[in-house]
Amino acid sequence: MIQIENLSKRYGELEVLNTMSLHIQKGSIFGIIGQSGAGKSTLLRCINGLETFDSGRILVDGIQISTGNDRQAREARREIGMVFQNFSLLDRLNVYDNVAFPMKSWGYKKKEIDERVRELIGLVDLNDKISAFPPYLSGGQKQRVAIARALTMQPKVLLCDEATSALDPRTAESILNLLKEINEKTGITIIVVAHQLSVIRNICTHMAILEDGHLACHGATTEIFMQAPAALRRLQGNREN
Ligand code: ATP
Ligand code: MG
Repeated sequence: MIQIENLSKRYGELEVLNTMSLHIQKGSIFGIIGQSGAGKSTLLRCINGLETFDSGRILVDGIQISTGNDRQAREARREIGMVFQNFSLLDRLNVYDNVAFPMKSWGYKKKEIDERVRELIGLVDLNDKISAFPPYLSGGQKQRVAIARALTMQPKVLLCDEATSALDPRTAESILNLLKEINEKTGITIIVVAHQLSVIRNICTHMAILEDGHLACHGATTEIFMQAPAALRRLQGNREN
């Protein structure tokens, strides 16, 4: 389980996250949605230990997350994988080496790396592209590589920040289905930041709406759509969901 307790974060004068508390159940696919600038990416970066925060705490299965460089902090961060909107692959490495990269930097044995990398490349259905370099891949294929790479350290949590917003609708759908399949196969907890309510409605078991650094509502997706709180109606009114 992920416990976010009284999390506050400011950039100078700007209060980006305001004493936010949220529990995310193990094994759920949790969707976060909100206007641009609401603090979604900042929240994910805090959960991933990429960003410091001013007060509060974040626990993943009881272990506290921090940006520290000590062994405990690094081990805690290892439990969390992240996929970004722009894929962030290394262009000079082929698919195999991109996926192998995290395990290599942690000093795993070659045989162990090879087994895991081939398993993951199979899972994301890219066996035929194993030697290809990122500039020669489609957007959807790049995102599959990024997902495989995020899973190499067998994290407990996978964070996806706008993982499908750079993709056309059909490719986006196949990536979302892949995430759902990974969740069902491995029981990994997935947090998805999305711009479209349809994405959240289709794959997320639970969701939260973020407004100006606080949670306007959160809960089971079906219940939120049934109850249609004001925050949901504001989102529905604002965009082409
Ligand atoms: P979007 O949907 O556009 O991705 P978001 O909800 O992910 O938006 P964040 O990226 O978390 O929003 O940003 C929240 C607020 O914090 C914004 O007002 C942004 O300008 C500000 N912000 C983000 N990063 C920094 C930074 N490094 N320094 C100063 N302000 C920042
Ligand atoms: Mg963002």
